[in-house]
Amino acid sequence: MLHIENLSVSYGSIHAVRKLSLQVEEGEVVTLIGSNGAGKTTTVNAICGTIPSKGTIHYRGKNMSGLPTHQIVREGIVMVPEGRRVFPKLTVVQNLMMGAYTRKASPLELQKDIEAIYQLFPRLLERKAQLAGTMSGGEQQMLAIGRAIMSKPKLLILDEPSMGLAPIVVKDIFDTIQKIKQQGITILLIEQNATKALSVADRGYVLENGEISFHDTAENLRSQDRIKKAYLGH
Ligand code: ATP
Repeated sequence: MLHIENLSVSYGSIHAVRKLSLQVEEGEVVTLIGSNGAGKTTTVNAICGTIPSKGTIHYRGKNMSGLPTHQIVREGIVMVPEGRRVFPKLTVVQNLMMGAYTRKASPLELQKDIEAIYQLFPRLLERKAQLAGTMSGGEQQMLAIGRAIMSKPKLLILDEPSMGLAPIVVKDIFDTIQKIKQQGITILLIEQNATKALSVADRGYVLENGEISFHDTAENLRSQDRIKKAYLGH
C-alpha cells in the first residue's frame, strides 16, 4: 500500500533521515520506533508532503513525491500529529465534524459515523458538548484520533499517540488502536514507547540516527536482545 524507497531529508547540514525504506501493506499495523530525535516526525512529515524530501513514496501504486498535503489527504492518508492539536474552542462534536470536511456525506451518514466514534471512545460521548481545549491530554488524543477516522482514512498515521499520557490512558489508546485495525484501517504507528507499539503491531522498523537499523515482525523484534536492552527496558 505504502512503499517508501531511499527517503532522505536534510535540514541544512543536518541529515535527519537517510535512505529510509519502509513498506506498509493493506490491513497491517506497522510501527516505526526510535528514541528522541531519531527522525520519526521528520519521516511522517515527508510522507504527508509538509517538508521536501528525496527518494520515492508510492501509495497504492501512485507516485506521491512532491504532491501537496491536501491531495495526499484526499488520497486517504491521514495523520494524527504529535501533541494532538484539536480545535480548542470547538466542542467535541464540532471537532469530529471538522474531520469530515473533505467528504460529501449526508447529515444522516455523518451522524452514524459519529455514533461509531462514540462506540470506540465512550468518553467522547460523555463529553460531546465540552470545549476540546478544556479536556485532559488523553481525551484530546482520543478526539484527535476520532476526528481523523471521521475523514475515512485508508492509511492512518499516528505520531506518538502515547506521548505525555498516564499508563492507564496509554492502555486505553492502544486497545482502541486494535479495534481500529479490526475495522480494516491500515495503520502506521510512530512511537517511542516500543513495548506498547510492538504489542499491537504486525511488523516494526527501528530508526536510529535517521537510518533504519532493524526491521522484522513485531514478534521477532520483541525477542531480540539488542532491541530488548535499548527499547524494551529489560
Ligand atoms: P521526537 O520523538 O523527539 O519528536 P523524532 O524521532 O520525531 O524525535 P525528529 O523530530 O524527526 O525526531 O528530528 C530528527 C532530527 O532532525 C533531530 O536531530 C532534530 O533536531 C532535527 N530537526 C527536526 N526538525 C528540524 C528543523 N525544522 N530544523 C532543523 N533541524 C530539525
